[in-house]
Amino acid sequence: MFDHRKLGRELGLFGTDPLIGAGLPYWPPDGAIVRHTLEEYIRDAECRAGYQHVYSPVLAKRELYEISGHWSHYHDDMFPAMDVGGEQIVLRPSLCPHHALVYRSRAHSYRELPVRLAELGGMFRSELSGVLGGLTRVRAIQLNDAHIFCTLDQVADEASAALAMIRRAYADLGIRQARYRLSLPGAGGKYVGSADMWQRATAVLTDVLDRCGVAYEAAEGEAAFYGPKIDVQVTDNAGREATLSTVQVDFHQPERFDLSYIGADGARHRPVMVHRSVIGSVERAVAHLIELQGGAFPAWLAPTQMVILPVSDAQMPQASALLRQGIDQGLRPQIAGQEHGSLGARIRAARLVPYQAVIGAKEAADERVALRLRDGRRLDALPAADALARIATLIGARSTKLWDGDARA
Ligand SMILES: [Zn+2]
Repeated sequence: MFDHRKLGRELGLFGTDPLIGAGLPYWPPDGAIVRHTLEEYIRDAECRAGYQHVYSPVLAKRELYEISGHWSHYHDDMFPAMDVGGEQIVLRPSLCPHHALVYRSRAHSYRELPVRLAELGGMFRSELSGVLGGLTRVRAIQLNDAHIFCTLDQVADEASAALAMIRRAYADLGIRQARYRLSLPGAGGKYVGSADMWQRATAVLTDVLDRCGVAYEAAEGEAAFYGPKIDVQVTDNAGREATLSTVQVDFHQPERFDLSYIGADGARHRPVMVHRSVIGSVERAVAHLIELQGGAFPAWLAPTQMVILPVSDAQMPQASALLRQGIDQGLRPQIAGQEHGSLGARIRAARLVPYQAVIGAKEAADERVALRLRDGRRLDALPAADALARIATLIGARSTKLWDGDARA
C-alpha cells in the first residue's frame, strides 16, 4: 500500500518546507519532469480536440467574484481579500470568471461556436492547516481547466467529447475510473439559479451519461453552486474515493457575465458554459498516480526513462555514447556507473526505471545493450540503436506497454 505523502517525498517528486507553509508543496527536479510531462500531454490532447489555450492571472478584483457568485457562495473556501491601493484583490478560487471575460472580450458569431478555452492555471483554496497533507489537500492548486462556450444544442456533444477525452487520458495514464457520479444539488440555500435551470442542466447531463452507456449513481449535495456535474470517481489502493475529472453544465455564469453570440437570425443569444477538467488538479492527479503505481509511472511519464549500467568503468565510453543518443531521441536516460555500487545494487536502486540498459564487455565490443524491463523481463542483447528506437517509439506513442513483441529471456 503506497502513501503518496511518504513515497512522493522519498522519490523527490514533491516537498514542503515550513517556511513556505502548509499546503504549499514545491516540485523538485524529478517531480517537475512528471508535472511538466503531464501538462504537455494535456495541452497536446486539448489542441487535437479543438481547444485554444489562454493564460489569465491568478488574482482579480473582489468584484469579479461578486458577479460570478463565488464571493457569496464559495466565500469560506477563499482567502481574504487584500487591500491594494484602495482596491480589494483576491486570489482566485476558480478560473471560470476569467475565461468568461476572455470570451466576452470580443463578439462571437454562432458559426465560431463552440469556443473552447483551456488553461492549466493556478487557483487557491483556503484550507484549514489541520486537513493539509501531501498533494491531495493543498492551498495552491494547478488546475487542468477548460470552458466551452456553445449553444444549447451543442452541449451534449461537447460533454460527451469531454468524457471521451477523460477515458483516453485514463488509458494513457493507467488510471481505472471507479464510477461515474451525477452530482446534484442538495438541501440548503447554497445554490444559485432557478429550479428550471437546474432541471435543464441535469437533463442534458443525464442524456450524455445514457448516450455513453455508462452506469452512474446520482449523488445529492455534490453539485457546484452554479450547476450539476458529472464527476469521474477514482479509488486508490486503500479503496478511498476521490474525484479527478468533471464535466459541468452552467447556465448561471453566462447570465451573470451577460455573455452572448450572434445567431443565424442576427440577434443576440446566450451561450451555455460547459466546464470540464480531464485530470483535475495536477497535484491530485500525481498523488493518485503515485499511490496507484508506487512511483512506477508509465514510461512516457517517468522522470528517468532509462538507466544505463556499464558493468565496469571500462564500458563508460559506450555508456556515454548511449546516453547522448538517448537524449538525441528525446528520451530521459541517466548513467549509473560503478561508483554507485555493484551491478546488482544499481539494478535494485533503479527498480522504478522502466528500462535498464546493461553494457558489459561483450555488449560494448559490438555496440549492443542487454535490456532489462521494470517488470522483470530480460531481453537478449540487441544493437543499441535498435533498442533506443523501439523504446522511443513506445514512449512517443505514450504506450503503457514496456515492450512490443516477444521479450525472450
Ligand atoms: Zn469553471
